[in-house]
Amino acid sequence: MGMRCNIICIENGLIKNHSAGHISTPEADEIIKTLEQELGNDKVHFYTGIQYRHLLVIDGGRKELICTPPHDVPGQPFKGLMIKAATPDAEPTAQLLNDLILRSQEILAKHPVNLERIAQGKDPANSIWPWSPGYRPAMQPINELYPNIRKSSVISAVDLIKGLGHYAGMKVIDVEGATGLFDTNYEGKAQAAIDALKTDDFVYLHVEAPDEAGHEGNYTLKNRTVEDLDSRLIGPIYEEVSKWNEPVAIAVLPDHPTPCAHRTHTSDPIPFLIYAPGIEPDSVNVFDEESCTKGGYGYLEGTEFTKIFLSLK
Ligand SMILES: [Zn+2]
Repeated sequence: MGMRCNIICIENGLIKNHSAGHISTPEADEIIKTLEQELGNDKVHFYTGIQYRHLLVIDGGRKELICTPPHDVPGQPFKGLMIKAATPDAEPTAQLLNDLILRSQEILAKHPVNLERIAQGKDPANSIWPWSPGYRPAMQPINELYPNIRKSSVISAVDLIKGLGHYAGMKVIDVEGATGLFDTNYEGKAQAAIDALKTDDFVYLHVEAPDEAGHEGNYTLKNRTVEDLDSRLIGPIYEEVSKWNEPVAIAVLPDHPTPCAHRTHTSDPIPFLIYAPGIEPDSVNVFDEESCTKGGYGYLEGTEFTKIFLSLK
């Protein structure tokens, strides 16, 4: 059984943030290696991911657990949010995980990386926070679901997205300097997408920066990430591919809202945009949640969007 394993910052018993103050991957790697050394065994393994997002694998663990995504509960006491078993069978797994959380706190309180971060006025990564348990998924590959997509790739800084791409049978492209934050390498990701489009039928390009700014509740930063997304990533891709002989369609959309006012994900409808040479435009000229409600496609649910977009000729 695998779980997402954040390293988070707890202050006075409260979850201060889900990201340990956006700890860097090299710092996190030292912490995860220590956890693997101290808490790992033949059944328990920690794997380094990116920044605060890591992986915990419990061999033989059960996934029937009630867990709390840490980005949903900033400011709340961690004790009441620890893992509960949803079935009697999962009780030993829940106990093991809660034991690991508490033991990680003892180990991380005096970890050199954290002592250094505290000295610099940064948030320490002083607890693990496992959540989202699951077994290896059996996914139908994208080229079986959509036979006109023979070759496809995914570009993201986020391991969750890369993993989904991997299971969907897509090539996973790593871009140097892709951080998942406002300082990501927008130009590098745009270029990687342009290069991939020369050989692939479909490229999924993901940018996490606006989501993270939303979690921080930082309006100014979120605006900047959306502007950068527009001018440094979507713009250059459009400029390039619109010159090609072979038509390229582009869809722009978030995977969910992360309003600054809520600092977490909501399930409200999201705006989307489809560009394709020769497509009939509707009357919407502004890309935002309000304006797009008047869009020509109306309100789509479930896989309707994907079906429409991927059936464009
Ligand atoms: Zn998010």
